[in-house]
Amino acid sequence: MTVLSNRAKSLKPSPTLAINAKAKSMQAQGIHVISFGAGEPDFDTPENIKQAAKKALDEGFTKYTPVGGIDELKDAIIMKFKRDSGLSYKRSEVLVSCGGKHSFYNLAQAIFDQGDEVIVPAPYWVSYPPMVSLAEGSPVIAETTEKNEFKITPGDLKKTITTKTKALIINSPSNPTGSAYSKKELEKIAEIALSKNIFVISDEIYEKIVYDEFQFTSIASLSEEMKKRTIIVHGVAKTYSMTGWRIGYTAGSEEIIAAMNNIQSQSTSNPTSIAQKASVEALIGPQSEVEKMVSAFSQRRNYIVDRLNKMRGVSCYKPMGAFYVFPNFSSYYGKAYQGKKIENSTHLADYFLDAAKVAVVPGVEFGADSFERLSFATSMENIKEGLDRVEEALKKLV
Ligand code: PLP
Repeated sequence: MTVLSNRAKSLKPSPTLAINAKAKSMQAQGIHVISFGAGEPDFDTPENIKQAAKKALDEGFTKYTPVGGIDELKDAIIMKFKRDSGLSYKRSEVLVSCGGKHSFYNLAQAIFDQGDEVIVPAPYWVSYPPMVSLAEGSPVIAETTEKNEFKITPGDLKKTITTKTKALIINSPSNPTGSAYSKKELEKIAEIALSKNIFVISDEIYEKIVYDEFQFTSIASLSEEMKKRTIIVHGVAKTYSMTGWRIGYTAGSEEIIAAMNNIQSQSTSNPTSIAQKASVEALIGPQSEVEKMVSAFSQRRNYIVDRLNKMRGVSCYKPMGAFYVFPNFSSYYGKAYQGKKIENSTHLADYFLDAAKVAVVPGVEFGADSFERLSFATSMENIKEGLDRVEEALKKLV
């Protein structure tokens, strides 16, 4: 008898969490590591949101709630979709879970069966393929290119769809590339999804973190038909700097939401009661703190993209949203430091950590080995120092 299930044995831990753990342990040993690994804003949760949680605590709002979230939060989510995307949902079409990751997990469990193909454009968020696999679906990776701003083209999408395709995942703005689909691009994707009768899972968690004049569009808002084909995965973590509070949500058809609710009722039950109250305040309260965070991210993004593109042999796409850059370092592959050859993104990330004390996440983890992911959810001072170190380290490779 083996102790572990095949499921557990085939699963790798989340690489982004692993890099951060390694950087933190070096920091704990007194080593001055600059980390570009963070997947969370470096700002505190806004005060009004913390106050709402404290109030809930003081009022004794500390018991079980309905499995899929309190009506007050569902109504705030419904209001948010109406306000931001013109979408109308009922309470029975919304489910609150313990983070956007949990929302996606429940969704995968609710709609995928063995043999179902799920198109995952690469570079992808690290957790999509394992969560699809845990639900016994088959992730089908569709490569995108830097030239196409890391977006799946209608032609590639058509080529990838088979009779077994059940869903396409769209993550706009994207982790790790920061690329985002325009309304026009989404219209073409929607047309294909409708004609081929597949679902679109739209992960909109970075919706509010967009730059310059970019206008976010939800693919669900394109038509009533497309709304029926779309399941939106969202959450408060990134917009309101609430990563630790663990509140995510899903909007979709009543049938899917009811199945997800069942799964949640037999696993985690409701998300934390006081975090739900805090999320109501996040969604319906003043949004000025969000604007401040986005403005700080925007300045850092301009600086980091400019610096990286000035480095010899590095090219970096300018992200339209989220707080990551995804530069291409592949011109350094084949070079060496003290006789040790750098052959891929993992070698280069190890080299940056060992030689420059800079933590980045290897692109291979996102399905793109020519790149490294750098998060700019860290201070400008850290960004400057970290990039100086990266530049020096690259010069030492021969
Ligand atoms: N979707 C994407 C693309 C993400 O990058 C993340 C977090 O890194 C999530 C979903 C899940 O966020 P959370 O579970 O913290 O709400």
